Amino acid sequence: MTIIPYSVYRKETWDAFVEMSKNGTFLLKRSFMDYHSDRFFDCSLFIYANTLPDGEFKEKGLTTKDLVAVFPANWDKEHYTVYSHQGLTYGGLLVLPEVTQKEVLDMMHAILLYYRDMMQAQRLVYKPIPYIYSSLPSGEDLYALFRAGAQLSRRLVSTCISMKNPMKMSTLRVRQAKKAVEHGFYIDRMTEGDTQTLHEYWQLLEHVLKTYHNATPTHTVQEMEVLMEQFPRNIRLYIVRHEKRIAAGCIVFEWRKVAHMQYIASGEEGRTYGALDLLFRHLINERYKQFEYVDFGTSNEDGGRYLNEGLIFQKEGFGGRAVCYDTYEVNIANAISEDKEQATGEATNGKCPVKYLDLKRITNSFEPKLTAEVSRVVQGGWYLLGKENKRFSEDFAAYCGTKFCIPTGNGLDALTMILLAYKRMHKWKDGDEVIVPSNTYIASILAVSRARLQPVLCEPRLEDYLIDPCRIGELITERTRAIMVVHLYGRVCDMKPINELATAHGLKVIEDVAQAHGACYEGIRAGHLGDAAGISFYPGKNLGALGDAGCVTTDDGELAEQVRSMCNYGSREKYANEMKGLNSRMDEIQAAVLCLKLKRLDADNEARRRMAQAYSKGITNPLITLPAPTADPLQNVWHIYPIRTPERDHLREYLAATGIETVVHYPIPPHRQQAYMEWNDRTYRISERIHREILSLPMSPVMRDDEIARVIEALNTYNV
Ligand SMILES: *Cc1c(COP(=O)(O)O)cnc(C)c1O
Repeated sequence: MTIIPYSVYRKETWDAFVEMSKNGTFLLKRSFMDYHSDRFFDCSLFIYANTLPDGEFKEKGLTTKDLVAVFPANWDKEHYTVYSHQGLTYGGLLVLPEVTQKEVLDMMHAILLYYRDMMQAQRLVYKPIPYIYSSLPSGEDLYALFRAGAQLSRRLVSTCISMKNPMKMSTLRVRQAKKAVEHGFYIDRMTEGDTQTLHEYWQLLEHVLKTYHNATPTHTVQEMEVLMEQFPRNIRLYIVRHEKRIAAGCIVFEWRKVAHMQYIASGEEGRTYGALDLLFRHLINERYKQFEYVDFGTSNEDGGRYLNEGLIFQKEGFGGRAVCYDTYEVNIANAISEDKEQATGEATNGKCPVKYLDLKRITNSFEPKLTAEVSRVVQGGWYLLGKENKRFSEDFAAYCGTKFCIPTGNGLDALTMILLAYKRMHKWKDGDEVIVPSNTYIASILAVSRARLQPVLCEPRLEDYLIDPCRIGELITERTRAIMVVHLYGRVCDMKPINELATAHGLKVIEDVAQAHGACYEGIRAGHLGDAAGISFYPGKNLGALGDAGCVTTDDGELAEQVRSMCNYGSREKYANEMKGLNSRMDEIQAAVLCLKLKRLDADNEARRRMAQAYSKGITNPLITLPAPTADPLQNVWHIYPIRTPERDHLREYLAATGIETVVHYPIPPHRQQAYMEWNDRTYRISERIHREILSLPMSPVMRDDEIARVIEALNTYNV
């Protein structure tokens, strides 16, 4: 089975399927459903019979004839809840006539899995399509819901006439109908496009609902106008007039052999003289004589909480019977918890592995919005230097608190361009020096080299792995131009002494914020703690794109202009090149992705802090050195949770054997790299020790509590 999310480009496939299905109604056609699309976030699904390897969808791999079901649905992100369509009275799985009970069971299961994995959904609220709309006996979905442990959460009572076996119309109703005729009431129908009649009726309806039921119609009259125009053969307005005035009326939704009364209303005069009795007698005995069902709609009031027995009694007087229309609720985690174990049978010790960083799970946690954003940009037809870049640079500058943010192709280029621009602006020479931490990721140092400046390595503090301000002073020479600080592993450097030193010696402070998006130092965000910052949005970072991306943030207007020009061939005006620039731009798709993900960055960082706290509290093994706490928790966004242990590789193998993935950041210090051969015989003791002992535990905002608990347990049972 393959499940594909609905997209507007496949509206026709959807509508054609609704026509063919065993239980579709026009209410489930797109032009009816989508009418509510601004109010509800659509997460409907197409379900195909055959399976593609890896669930990869190739248009040509699946054809419409493989389509066996569709599932109309909305997503309530705030409550992690999927609704089988919020805007409609009914909405559930639509299947082909030949689909079996077993297949429906499998489908429902796959649907629940899909919503759990793609959206982290916790609940499904399901409103089955009433049997009267089914061309064949139905209820397979109810059985599947039952098997998934569904609970009844709401019951509406409707009154329905089975036209093959109607009950006799009561004498009271017949007498009332006669009375209406005697007093000159007559039946009329709104002709197509006669919106004046519709508006007139709507006034009566609103008045009646308000006076007698303390309610308002679900649709506005304007909405109903549009819907009637869209579905002239499915939605009709019948009225009863008295001396031209509208005395009563109702709207009928017709689909195949079912007529569903909605928005029934009668004014004072109509009530006294039985106007609705006249109308319903006509509709039942004449107009809908050949139909299978006439449904009078629900008699629940106050959002379903209260049942109006008087209404049911009246409706039954026309020959109807009360039927229940129910809403069910499924707890998704409970529904699929047992087979989760089975599904991951290949896992270590019967449990699925804890990944170091599950990028797919992170991506899925932004669905379906993320894919919608990507499609929007793809369809927009503009891919570089456009409004998504503008939006991102505004949003991210505002987030960091800087005056400027210039999107770039990646983090390395961002850092390189800052240095190149300063070189031009302040006439630095090739070989001038930039102080960088000796234990950073190689990119910080490469940026200095690429700008033809000289990296000068400074040892970190062992407690927090950050550049040691006490050691910077002794490295400053005549040729020193800047200090590049790296907020390594997500923790901000000790900026106060560093900025003081820089001011005293006239040095620039450049931040490498690749690992610390959102971290704060005394209320100021990383990216705004020095003169300029280079930031990476590599997919695995706290704020990650779906590919390469980066940016420069600064308050320095001249630097901003230089970088903006440099990243685009050294030109601000097309084909006018003021410098020998490079090509390092963020594409529009990444900018849109980052705008979306930025909104959740603070919450994600908070989730990382909670996990770090769980690790720090839970891990008690004396062989393991935990990261030191910060005075202010906002100083760390836990890009990485680094521990140290003397037998690091041994611990790593042990964890791998219990199914826990870890990473070493980083196994070889920069001065031992072949790329920096000139430094290979030097010794940086602290760096070397860190590189030998450090290990990063699984960490991401979408890790589950049970996974954290497993890591803690494994670490606490470890011994040499
Ligand atoms: C990831 C990273 C970079 C480089 O970013 P890219 O976007 O991959 O070029 C630079 N510095 C540090 C510390 C990093 O972790």
